Amino acid sequence: MSAAGKESKRVLMVGLLCQDILNLVDHYPTEDEDVRCVNQFWQKGGNAANSACVLSSLGETTEYLGTVSSRAEGSSALKELQTFGVLTEHVVYSDCPIPTSCVIINTQTGSRTIIHGTRNMAELTAEDFSSLDLTRYRWIHFEGRNTVEVCKMMEIVEDFNKKVLFVSKEYAESCGFASAKETVKKLLQRVKKGCTVLCAWGDQGADGITPEGTHYHCQAFPPEKVVDTLGAGDTFNAAVIWGLCRGTGLEGALTMGCRIAGQKCGQFGYKNLHS
Ligand code: ADP
Repeated sequence: MSAAGKESKRVLMVGLLCQDILNLVDHYPTEDEDVRCVNQFWQKGGNAANSACVLSSLGETTEYLGTVSSRAEGSSALKELQTFGVLTEHVVYSDCPIPTSCVIINTQTGSRTIIHGTRNMAELTAEDFSSLDLTRYRWIHFEGRNTVEVCKMMEIVEDFNKKVLFVSKEYAESCGFASAKETVKKLLQRVKKGCTVLCAWGDQGADGITPEGTHYHCQAFPPEKVVDTLGAGDTFNAAVIWGLCRGTGLEGALTMGCRIAGQKCGQFGYKNLHS
């Protein structure tokens, strides 16, 4: 509690903070080609950290939780997160190089090709998580990594975890599903009762289904020119959470997710996204 005795409940995003090294190219290189990029920059990355920035930009009191490199490059990524207003007081430091992703962005199409390096960074544990005061949070989102520990964390907050499930296109395809609609309809049969299921599908937009089986589709909102789709899914998740926290209902939250993710695809990075 603050000195005033009131603190708005936070959204907590649990997962990765990493360094992204973006290489912007005017065509996708062929193997063994020696190319010069048209631009190169560093920005913080990681699904949870990206979504935290978007939520904070939308005005939500947002905290990020994960393991963070205590080395110089780690504190620079953490500072970048903080410039978005994201709270970080519970992060766990580790003396390890920061996980790094090298990204090729083809400026003709906005496609992002990613090579991840975890660099042996320790994962957050359920024990780290258990020290939080859960009454401070209105929503807790877990990035699906280190599943053994994440499952233990979800058990700690079972009331939160069974309400909404975000499924990625990659996971859906690995299950043999061919569309977002098929994914949400089939997965609803498999998840716990009372769960809403959502799935984003790139430029096809996204679908969602309520626990009662009402299905919604929202088309993508293509920007004038797609320049950077890195983190489109993170942006979608954040905007959906934002909508659901405000009582928009599933249909409104899907529209919010696709609209803001579309804005993001038309620009580099996550600044100035707005509802
Ligand atoms: P990621 O690959 O980052 O997980 P997705 O491809 O699942 O992200 O896209 C998430 C959301 O971003 C989509 O539901 C859509 O609203 C938006 N989106 C992604 N690609 C495009 C695009 N080319 N044009 C417009 N919107 C897009």
